[in-house]
Amino acid sequence: MNVLILNSGSSSLKFQVIATDLDRIKQHKDDRLCKGEVERIGGEAIVTLQVGKQPRQKFTAPLRDISAALDFIVRHIVSDQSGIAEIQGAADIHAVGHRVVHGGERFTESAIITDDVLQGIEDCIDLAPLHNPNNIKGIQAARELFGKALPQVAVFDTAFHHSLSEMAYLYAVPYHLYRRHRIRRYGFHGTSHRYVAYRYRALRRLSREQTHVITLHLGNGCSAAAIRGGASVDTSMGMTPLEGLVMGTRSGDVDPAIVNLIAIKEGLSAQEVETLLNTQSGLLGISGLSNDMRILQSELKEHDDRRVRLAIDVFCYRARKYIGAFLACMGGADAVVFTGGIGENSPAIRAGICEGLQWAGLQLDDKHNQETNAREGKISTDDSRLQAYVIPTDEELLIARDTVRCILGEPHPS
Ligand code: ADP
Repeated sequence: MNVLILNSGSSSLKFQVIATDLDRIKQHKDDRLCKGEVERIGGEAIVTLQVGKQPRQKFTAPLRDISAALDFIVRHIVSDQSGIAEIQGAADIHAVGHRVVHGGERFTESAIITDDVLQGIEDCIDLAPLHNPNNIKGIQAARELFGKALPQVAVFDTAFHHSLSEMAYLYAVPYHLYRRHRIRRYGFHGTSHRYVAYRYRALRRLSREQTHVITLHLGNGCSAAAIRGGASVDTSMGMTPLEGLVMGTRSGDVDPAIVNLIAIKEGLSAQEVETLLNTQSGLLGISGLSNDMRILQSELKEHDDRRVRLAIDVFCYRARKYIGAFLACMGGADAVVFTGGIGENSPAIRAGICEGLQWAGLQLDDKHNQETNAREGKISTDDSRLQAYVIPTDEELLIARDTVRCILGEPHPS
């Protein structure tokens, strides 16, 4: 089955086509036929496409909305020009899997998109006003293009964290606010945490029940998850993706009282302060230079800039603090797993986070840490009580597999 995977944002559309079915899943023989992205939708859009392992192609085209962007990429993928032997026409795309950010309390697992499910995703717009509307546009664009008969599946960023207990997901605010407005921790990046926990247990040949890990997804957005018995028992992101770790432009945890304080002192509305915490804070806010860890690290190397060092130190310290907290909450873990652009590629940040965690039994193996980048591997010493791993994430693969399993009515275990 050739599954088109879509991740639609406000001005971008990421896509992949993965060929998979139940046998291929079992044998790990899924095949990524192509991947790419449309950026700057709404103007002269930039389209990148990589077919198999061939070099990337780049085009520009005026694409006014997600629908036009999807039409453009599908037309190209199915044309002879693309060189994808498995896809000769639109009929060779057998299903569409969508990344959907918020599934609220209703969606505890991936779901085939019916009118009722689409309504359910719309009902979650209040919870994710910046994300769900774009995901819905992607779903509607695919329906228009392929017709309603082509199966589409929604895979939710929140679903993996549905196993959090009330104790872990409730904020200590008046309970009626939870009842009335569903104000609680939901958590995000669930597909990524779920995927790396699954790969960890595959690498170590463990059952789901034996899987006790802390996963750190460190990309532009960053989050930690405490996974006990293969299930998420706590996570750092909250009602929205703003809570928790320090991120590229997001503050992560702050004292909620500073929102009003900043509003008064800076003459901003509450909404403007929230935007500031989401877009002007984190690594960018402290360093005053960039939200991009690569840029910060090279700046530090060349100029030893104090604020850049501080930004990186606060980033590592916060992540370490969450590891400690989650070890306490989950009664210990067997490993810490690093993923996301920073987690997969930066030995210095991994070392910075693990510094001083010897008390918990975690000792990095310097050589393995330096050498394990963009691939799976253990980076702690053999005798570490708490192991550390690098496992590159692959949310699209999980979306493709869930799509196939949902359509065939197979269980899709988290
Ligand atoms: P997203 O969350 O948007 O998917 P990524 O997972 O690609 O983002 O992560 C982006 C982050 O990863 C950026 O801060 C980038 O600088 C960082 N990153 C990527 N490669 C490296 C590297 N080799 N060293 C340090 N940081 C890196």
